[in-house]
Amino acid sequence: MKLAVIGAGYVGLVTGIGFASLGHEITFVDVDAKKVEMIEKAEPPLYEKGLKELMKNLSSYRATTEFKAIKNSEIVFVCVGTPFKDGKMDLSQLESSALEISKYLSKQIVVLRSTVLPGTTENLIPIFEKYGKKAFADFGVAYNPEFLREGNALQDFFNPDRIVIGAEDERSKKILSELYKDFNCPKIFTNIKTAEIIKLVANAFLSTKISFANEIGNVCKKLGIDCYEVFEAVGLDHRISPHFFKAGLGFGGSCLPKDLKALISKAVEVGEEPRILKAVLEVNESQPLRMIEILKKHLGSLEGKKIGVLGLAFKPETDDVRDARSMVVVSKLLEEGAEIVAYDPKAMENFRKIFPNIEYRKSALEVIEGAEAILIVTEWTEFEGVDCKGKLLVDGRRVKVKNAKYEGVCW
Ligand code: NAD
Repeated sequence: MKLAVIGAGYVGLVTGIGFASLGHEITFVDVDAKKVEMIEKAEPPLYEKGLKELMKNLSSYRATTEFKAIKNSEIVFVCVGTPFKDGKMDLSQLESSALEISKYLSKQIVVLRSTVLPGTTENLIPIFEKYGKKAFADFGVAYNPEFLREGNALQDFFNPDRIVIGAEDERSKKILSELYKDFNCPKIFTNIKTAEIIKLVANAFLSTKISFANEIGNVCKKLGIDCYEVFEAVGLDHRISPHFFKAGLGFGGSCLPKDLKALISKAVEVGEEPRILKAVLEVNESQPLRMIEILKKHLGSLEGKKIGVLGLAFKPETDDVRDARSMVVVSKLLEEGAEIVAYDPKAMENFRKIFPNIEYRKSALEVIEGAEAILIVTEWTEFEGVDCKGKLLVDGRRVKVKNAKYEGVCW
């Protein structure tokens, strides 16, 4: 099929390249001319395992800044960002892309893949209809959430746990069924609003599991119990599962925190008090600060002290630093007057855009050598077994290191 993908970020690029490798013809449309230029040269503008190799080996995709390129597509996937801003989900990228799409609509199926609050897709329909074409009659509208995990995104694209399709008209259902026919996983067909909230509920549940683990971890530490042993045993219950059942610094990234905040704001808007969801957020916000408290317990004032930070990405195997726990940790360290020396295998370039004035090093060992104490903020595998030269190491992610004066956040 001929597919267009609007917004070639983490979701759009993986979706497009994933479908290209399954034999479809892809046109990426993005407002970022630099990104477009890189994709045209088969260079990924972001880091995702295996993406570079796939892009080099495929020729069935192109990229442009021109929306008219969507004219002949059968499906138009919309994968632009939906950040949380000023107390609500910011729909400006969606609205401006919808306006451009509307100019070139004839009989395509427009499929939103961005994470949105229930009702958002349907609220965009007047924009799509601006030039006279009718939704569900001339063109189709559907919602098909993306559940990929950054760092594992291609693997998740090819092997999803489930595919959720929110569609109201038969033609959209039929074309999307055809597109996904070779995916061997449960497929849930539902209405658009339900599909929209399924994604948000999945993320809210994962966030809850992490904050729950952190709260238990904090208690276990005080009781002298290893919470990881507890989670391992509890996670063997198939109703609970061991995944996402870890204590540490909490969740970051471009999805969980903002989707949780958006769901909270929606609940409040409809007159509900989302007590659990608010507590999940609260635990998550205070958790990284525990690392600084531990540091101060050992070092006293941090004023003028050189602190090493290992890991800046919000999780391993990505260069994404959006809402990363490293942001909270580094901001607090700076506020306390510490000097920072940091290293991350992939995310330093992105982190430097936000914190240009801290020192960056080329390896974990260089950070350890140049710092009085070290913090592990992201669990990159290359940090495992690293020699800490007898220095104080506060671990936020349960990484096994060597030769450290060691304390974990919740263990
Ligand atoms: P991103 O910021 O990496 O990508 C968005 C892209 O859209 C950028 O390349 C940007 O230049 C482009 N863009 C912005 N405005 C545009 C416009 N008007 N027209 C065309 N292109 C435009 O974001 P992302 O991480 O890929 O997330 C996209 C959506 O998918 C969000 O709603 C997010 O919540 C959701 N999501 C993200 C993930 C993830 O792991 N990143 C997973 C599932 C769902």
